[in-house]
Amino acid sequence: MTAATRLADIRHRIARAERTAGRPEGATTLVAVSKTFPVEEIRPVIEAGQRVFGENRVQEAAAKWPLLRAETDGIELHLIGPLQSNKAAEAVALFDVIHTVDRDKIAAAIAAEAARQGRRPRLFVQVNTGLEPQKAGIDPREAVAFVERCRSVHGLAIEGLMCIPPAEDAPAPHFALLAKLARAASVEGLSMGMSSDFEIAVGQGATHVRVGSALFGHRG
Ligand SMILES: *Cc1c(COP(=O)(O)O)cnc(C)c1O
Repeated sequence: MTAATRLADIRHRIARAERTAGRPEGATTLVAVSKTFPVEEIRPVIEAGQRVFGENRVQEAAAKWPLLRAETDGIELHLIGPLQSNKAAEAVALFDVIHTVDRDKIAAAIAAEAARQGRRPRLFVQVNTGLEPQKAGIDPREAVAFVERCRSVHGLAIEGLMCIPPAEDAPAPHFALLAKLARAASVEGLSMGMSSDFEIAVGQGATHVRVGSALFGHRG
């Protein structure tokens, strides 16, 4: 299968899940997760019409995307991996959307860099819905208050919430919890769903699904 075929198949499955859920077609944005794949493997996906991409490492994205962006208009780049405050300057310069705001130190660093660079990346708060100690994201019990602090203390507009359910759990309850927290925090965006569960996420209101291996193939 070519990249174009896989992309068309994923788009079709998203549209079908939107219809099944009674959601408008196009309500869900596909974020194509290109982490670990070289520019030669990303280019055919851009040529097939995809413009929204996700990377999980600032350094890797900085090595790949300035070139790809120079080749094509309208690329939108999303950071979906954990962010350290010493990388905030580079992240704000490079990414249009950051999905992984999860503590005050990062919120403050992003706010300072946004002001300094005159850039306003769109922001999601990552929630550790499974309370996994090794995983990034804020405790779900603190998520609503943190979104409020992002606004009131750091002056940051938060577009939505993001989660990565534990690999061994059924994802649906995690997606439902994320949707409930988003309503409580008065944010619209829901970044949830990956290759194995994006249709379930669309059914539960995902505005952004992050799909890697189903599109690019297995990561080495
Ligand atoms: C790698 C990654 C994805 C994509 O995972 P696939 O299972 O390959 O679709 C989505 N979200 C995050 C945060 C990731 O790191």
